[in-house]
Amino acid sequence: MNVRVGLDIGGTKTAALVADGTGPLVEVTRPTDVASPARLVAGIVATVRQALGQLEPGRQLLAVGAGVPGLIDPAGGTVRMAVNLNLVEPYPLRDALEQALGVPVALENDVRVAALGAFHWARSRSDIGSLAYLSIGTGIAAGLVLDGKLYRGAQGMAGEIGHIPIDSAGPRCGCGQYGCLEAIAAGPAIAAFAATAMPERRPSTAEVFALAAAGQPDAGRVVARAAGYLSRAVYLLLMTYDVEQVALGGGVTRAGAAFEQPLRRAMADLRANSPLTATMMPDDKVVIIPSDYNAGARGAVFLAPAPLPADRQGGR
Ligand SMILES: [Zn+2]
Repeated sequence: MNVRVGLDIGGTKTAALVADGTGPLVEVTRPTDVASPARLVAGIVATVRQALGQLEPGRQLLAVGAGVPGLIDPAGGTVRMAVNLNLVEPYPLRDALEQALGVPVALENDVRVAALGAFHWARSRSDIGSLAYLSIGTGIAAGLVLDGKLYRGAQGMAGEIGHIPIDSAGPRCGCGQYGCLEAIAAGPAIAAFAATAMPERRPSTAEVFALAAAGQPDAGRVVARAAGYLSRAVYLLLMTYDVEQVALGGGVTRAGAAFEQPLRRAMADLRANSPLTATMMPDDKVVIIPSDYNAGARGAVFLAPAPLPADRQGGR
């Protein structure tokens, strides 16, 4: 049977997930070599070949999809501003991978691809056609699937609410703007706020959540503040796109219940103010992606250009 490979290409590691029409078969993760574009391509190709080498004989690679942390021109297949990959100027990554692998390759921004993966995870649990994916990690990024398809927007930035300024008195963001959601509620921002609230302790982001869950009041206030902003971000996505679900992922969500419970309390606080909010943001519209589900690599499999027979069976 024929297979596709989904690639989650990050600045430190690259995951290659091999799947056929029945689902994932093999996943391999190797360090990403960003020393030069040629080394990057060679490393990605080696990761793909290692993953394919673990399959039983007779499998044929049909196509590859790849999520890349940068600005993508899907038509031209170029990547730029991928600082973590050492690719700032436009680089024809799609053509380079197609030449090396001999199959069609599709590229997309890594958060868009993770949104696609999140959508397929959510759709395996309930019959939905639209979803917003909100990634909360070292940054805050979002992607959209509308009517079952990735929605990019005019410049590929649709849903990127991490850079909406929400507090004019807030700290300066990496994008240059002041008080972006990302500068207030992403992992590093939570740790920075905790360092001022708890100067004697200066806990990491993960420690803040653990301390808050254990009842430490200063940590509790730091987490409640972040949860308040994030609940508004979720509501913003629901009101802007009226999606059926909002799926949350990224490093900060791995705090598990210590992340989820304060967020759900903040959502309940918003609902208590307004019947409209209660209608638009019920608890079950918001889901947390399990930490062992690699939404990036899974989504990249669905991005791969060649359709497989199972894709045409059922579903939207
Ligand atoms: Zn910003």
